[in-house]
Amino acid sequence: MPLREFDLIDRYFSPIGSSENGVLCGIGDDAAVVQVADDEDLVVCVDTLVSGVHFFSDVQPYDLGYKSLAVNLSDIAAMAAKPRWATLSLTLPEANEDWLGKFAEGFSDLAAEHNVSLIGGDTTKGPLSVSVQVLGSVKSGRLLKRSGARAGDLIYVSGDIGGPALACRQLGGGLQGLTLSETTYQRFHRPQVRVDLGQIIPEYASAAIDISDGLAADIEHLLKASGVGARIQTDKIPLSKSFELIKGQPDYWQLALAGGDDYELCFSIPEDLQKDFEGRVNDLPMPAPVLARSVKKRELYGKQKQVTRFR
Ligand code: ADP
Ligand code: MG
Repeated sequence: MPLREFDLIDRYFSPIGSSENGVLCGIGDDAAVVQVADDEDLVVCVDTLVSGVHFFSDVQPYDLGYKSLAVNLSDIAAMAAKPRWATLSLTLPEANEDWLGKFAEGFSDLAAEHNVSLIGGDTTKGPLSVSVQVLGSVKSGRLLKRSGARAGDLIYVSGDIGGPALACRQLGGGLQGLTLSETTYQRFHRPQVRVDLGQIIPEYASAAIDISDGLAADIEHLLKASGVGARIQTDKIPLSKSFELIKGQPDYWQLALAGGDDYELCFSIPEDLQKDFEGRVNDLPMPAPVLARSVKKRELYGKQKQVTRFR
């Protein structure tokens, strides 16, 4: 059986990781965090997008530039950090100036929106792939990991999910005959990353993750890292409106929960902070109603490994 991504990382790379040398959060979270000064920590993440694997080869260059930065900003947001610098490693089959101009514009527009400076990178020739690293900072003690949720905490998701998976399926030639909204395509091409919310939640939240692989996998990561479980009622999940179009299709839930590319935040808040938190985020494109309450693992499945149950 081929090694799964997470097993591969666990076996070969986690052992090289370290908790010394100022490493506050190493391999296994949305981003790494190292202490650089007494009162400030540096948060680092990198994501690579490969043509034909992570994006369609006919992608609009503007969207590719935008999204390659966005997926990293989402990881930084999940750590409650402020993004500050980026490096860009670009592998190009040819130097097409029209293409490059639009790619740079997409990258630059999002960078400007979040005050991120491009400080370096690498350019090589080869099959198209884009690797972006983002560095951010967080005040010491404000860092939000995946591992802080406690039994009884309320679990939120920051917006509706599943739309990008539908758009991706249709752009790949599936879901023939359906008309998806422009917003749905937009969410796939240019994810709205929750950096602002990421700056607010550390006052309240006990753990956070961004949803890149799909709600099912990512909520499982948060729960596992925290040593808790959750029963999730599927009717509480804030699905993109476009799902009404595919009601009754056999892979409805598969697309909604495992399609990925949502780039929403999923986070836990202790119940006694619920009121304060919801008051604070009233004006934002707000986290949907609470998704679930985390429970002690043994309340869920006894000794089984899985920590999420959908029903
Ligand atoms: P995300 O989906 O949040 O971007 P990933 O699933 O890509 O995170 O990675 C999970 C964790 O494993 C992260 O902490 C990441 O830094 C780490 N990781 C992934 N690949 C490697 C590698 N080749 N060497 C070291 N760490 C890695
Ligand atoms: Mg992530």
